[in-house]
Amino acid sequence: MSRFWSAVVHGLTPYVPGEQPKIDNLVKLNTNEHPYGPSPKALQAIRKEVTDSLRLYPDPNADRLKAALAARFSLEPQQVFVGNGSDEVLAHAFHALLRHERPLWFADVTYSFYPVYCGLYGIEYRTVPLDEHYAIRPEDYLPQGDERAGGIVVANPNAPTGRALPLAKIERIVAGNPDAVVVVDEAYVDFGGESAIALVNRHPNLLVVQTFSKSRSLAGLRVGFAVGHADLIAGLERIKNSFNSYPLGRMAIAGAVASVEDEPHFRESCRRVIATREQLTADLAALGFQVLPSAANFVFARHPKHDAAELALALRNRAILVRHFKAPRIDQFLRITVGTDAQCGQLVKVLGELLG
Ligand SMILES: *Cc1c(COP(=O)(O)O)cnc(C)c1O
Repeated sequence: MSRFWSAVVHGLTPYVPGEQPKIDNLVKLNTNEHPYGPSPKALQAIRKEVTDSLRLYPDPNADRLKAALAARFSLEPQQVFVGNGSDEVLAHAFHALLRHERPLWFADVTYSFYPVYCGLYGIEYRTVPLDEHYAIRPEDYLPQGDERAGGIVVANPNAPTGRALPLAKIERIVAGNPDAVVVVDEAYVDFGGESAIALVNRHPNLLVVQTFSKSRSLAGLRVGFAVGHADLIAGLERIKNSFNSYPLGRMAIAGAVASVEDEPHFRESCRRVIATREQLTADLAALGFQVLPSAANFVFARHPKHDAAELALALRNRAILVRHFKAPRIDQFLRITVGTDAQCGQLVKVLGELLG
């Protein structure tokens, strides 16, 4: 606390990211990073940018990256927005498109950054409970009499549950709220979800947000993007150009373009994570865990006989990090990132010792 803080700062409740400790031989399964490296072509493109040209500002519009993403998704470049990680893209979307008189609606169990942005931008919100299987019920997001959302944000697959909603159900939410923007946060979609990008040309109120941090193994580069109707993108650009003209540096633009262009590496590395996830799910089930069906690069699991916080602590003492959320409805779950086969094998072995 400081007397120099503004009233806004006094009122904030900042997001707390998973820890990044410096411990040797750590099995780090707590922040959903990709276990395999980025495309070698992306690394090469990044290295090529490390020259005297770094004295010059990057392209403020990152036109090369917008063109590459537009081509990949068969969209126009004016339908693409890019930012410094999808957290920044989401922040701009909250500010530009989700801040209205009526409250913003999102699930009671979802990405915990959403209420933080609401606090930062003074957005009223209402949480909509997941069903008893931790799934989103689309009908709960439709206008009920005079009650309707000022905006909606859905993570699909959801975090930290990993559960995915089929595209038809997403479309039901979008079509049922034609006067509100629906943001679909697809940070994990490449691990088994269905992308709503296929719907953006049909629905002018749909904004789809993705990131290079998870499926493209570039969390350290900080690149995210949004696609939607050109009018939504223009709103985001107005905020961005009132905040930071250069959110992406030269290395980020070059690396992201090369990553988009290396489709084989992307597909194969996601396929490997999915295969490991299925093995991990089976191994955890064999230890007595209940594991929610996951379409992400993590699993959400609870053990009926063991406290989740105690398990997380015991794992940490054995140099294995997983994420535990001290939050209503989910405080008996562990969120475990899918690592390499060896890391997941080590986790299962240690869990077996702890439970046995
Ligand atoms: C990881 C994550 C993001 C943000 O990722 P960036 O690294 O900022 O691109 C956004 N939404 C969800 C649900 C996430 O899990």
